[in-house]
Amino acid sequence: AQIKQAQFVKSSSRAKDCPKDDRPEFAIIGRSNVGKSSLINALVRQDMALTSKKPGKTQLINHFLINKSWYMVDLPGYGFAHASESARIDWSSFTKGYFLNRDTLVAVMLLVDASIPPQRIDLDCANWLGRNNIGMTFVFTKCDKTKGGKGTRPVDNIRQFQELIGKCYGEPPPWVMTSSVTGLGRDELLLHMSQLRNY
Ligand code: GDP
Repeated sequence: AQIKQAQFVKSSSRAKDCPKDDRPEFAIIGRSNVGKSSLINALVRQDMALTSKKPGKTQLINHFLINKSWYMVDLPGYGFAHASESARIDWSSFTKGYFLNRDTLVAVMLLVDASIPPQRIDLDCANWLGRNNIGMTFVFTKCDKTKGGKGTRPVDNIRQFQELIGKCYGEPPPWVMTSSVTGLGRDELLLHMSQLRNY
């Protein structure tokens, strides 16, 4: 399940511009500042996500080809505190288009910051994916933090998030605890994605 090779392929502004082949792919999404670039870099062990942080590329769908066999897709962060209402709406229409039209999408890795209490926007996003029958895994980030926002602990924030989600689903999505600082969850997440690919 290890990543031996990772290569930036392209940035696309619409689902129909994404690479056209049969390789399976995983979309990585989450609120801005959730730790998405750090996690992608930790997974591939190189500064891949830097590409997508370049001005102009943050609002694009960025495809990385892994081991020449599957894609890891970096999508724009949502709900950035300072984004204008119109920027948020842009995120929805274009990213939703990708989710609803991408046949090779295996699952969405929804990143959730475990250092802060559950956020409405993350729950909304999970609900939207669930309603549209798009498979997802909760990837909790920053689990190394012993005390997060407002003195909350990651384990408690995660339990609360699960409880709130549990009210919306019969069967809760799989989840992984990660830290880009300690490397926690890295192998588990890669193994999980390889199992989903071979399912
Ligand atoms: P992005 O906006 O989602 O791409 O988030 P970044 O990867 O740029 O990370 C946002 C901030 O969170 C940065 O200050 C990172 O150093 C910090 N961060 C990211 N991942 C972790 C983590 O696993 N643990 C801790 N303690 N901080 C993290």
